[in-house]
Amino acid sequence: MELEALLHKEELTKEEIAALLGLTDKKERQRLYDAAYAVKLKYIGNVDHYRGLLEFSNRCIKNCRYCGIRRGNEAVERFDTSREDILAMARWAYEQHYGSLTLQSGERQDPEFIAFVEEILREIKEIGGGALGITLCVGEQTEETYRRWFEAGAHRYLLRIETSNPALYARLHPQDGHHEWTVRRDCLLTLKKIGYQVGTGDMIGLPGQTLEDLAADILFYKKLKIDMIGMGPYVVHHQTPIGRAVMAEGGDSPAAREHRFILGLNMIAVTRLCLKNVNIASTTALQALNPFGREFGLKAGANILMPIVTLPRYRKQYLLYDNKPCVGDSPDQCRNCLEARVHSIGDRIGWDEWGDSPRYFTDHRLSAEKPGIAEEQEQ
Ligand code: SAH
Ligand code: SF4
Repeated sequence: MELEALLHKEELTKEEIAALLGLTDKKERQRLYDAAYAVKLKYIGNVDHYRGLLEFSNRCIKNCRYCGIRRGNEAVERFDTSREDILAMARWAYEQHYGSLTLQSGERQDPEFIAFVEEILREIKEIGGGALGITLCVGEQTEETYRRWFEAGAHRYLLRIETSNPALYARLHPQDGHHEWTVRRDCLLTLKKIGYQVGTGDMIGLPGQTLEDLAADILFYKKLKIDMIGMGPYVVHHQTPIGRAVMAEGGDSPAAREHRFILGLNMIAVTRLCLKNVNIASTTALQALNPFGREFGLKAGANILMPIVTLPRYRKQYLLYDNKPCVGDSPDQCRNCLEARVHSIGDRIGWDEWGDSPRYFTDHRLSAEKPGIAEEQEQ
């Protein structure tokens, strides 16, 4: 089918999605990004929203084979941000008119951690009389924990499925019974059941990942009626098993990084074409591969930015991947730099607004507890 027809087709098949994701020609890619930006204008407008990203601890019980703060990386100095510092940064974000905060950390499931997060949520909710929207991104938890945090004030949750292909997922994680694709998928279903706005996403350009895998990821988001997408290119971390293997095979060359960057933009654009009224983040990982990565992401259909508000003294210790940008910056610098970037592409910032996913209010509930695609993928 002609590119123009594909860009305006109502329901794309998996093969058609894969064909769009595989575009490499510069002019064709520009047509894809323009079409996606037009869909963003129609369903969202030329407005982008901020979620101040507070990476409050790098302690993690998991050992994901791609991640720089995995439990097994002994070169990492572990940190916890104090309650006072978290609240001070939340108040700072509120005073900067950010509208929303994302609390992210490594995964912990112990009672102290659960209670700590619950208390922090209640206290952040007191700032400005509940002015800040809160997204949590702290991994897999029980239904009871998710409920406690929802009741304490978190209303969005981000848990990337990483890949919708269980076999690829198994290669990226240790086979120790604690890194199960089905458990992660079920967490997403639980979060939806509780009433969170649910975000998921993948890493793009993983070793062994095909265009069909990425197309299946988009169909997975669609089947699960996901409200928010947070995805980004895979970026090598040199102290990880996957990072070392990729480097040994020459997979971290400038050309390979450029390829992953383009795939990342294509994924944003095609996801916007397919899902229309969801929130899509233009993530920091894009900028790790290209200095203007996040602006390109907004122009390809993304509408969410996550300026880092992590305390400067901890930023060097929260490196999920190499060359993470903004590590030497202060929150003030991140605010001004991002504002200039948004204006440079003709968008504006929705200051003081939560910027919820429009999708959540129109089509959130799943008809059955476990949608067909998840069952199919288990077989
Ligand atoms: N521990 C939580 C949240 C922090 S990790 C969790 O895992 O859900 C947040 C995200 O960082 C992960 O979902 C993963 O997609 C991403 N990430 C980790 N290592 C990465 C890498 N090397 N390149 C790109 N993204 C990475
Ligand atoms: Fe921990 Fe998340 Fe990194 Fe996995 S991706 S090791 S759960 S911080």
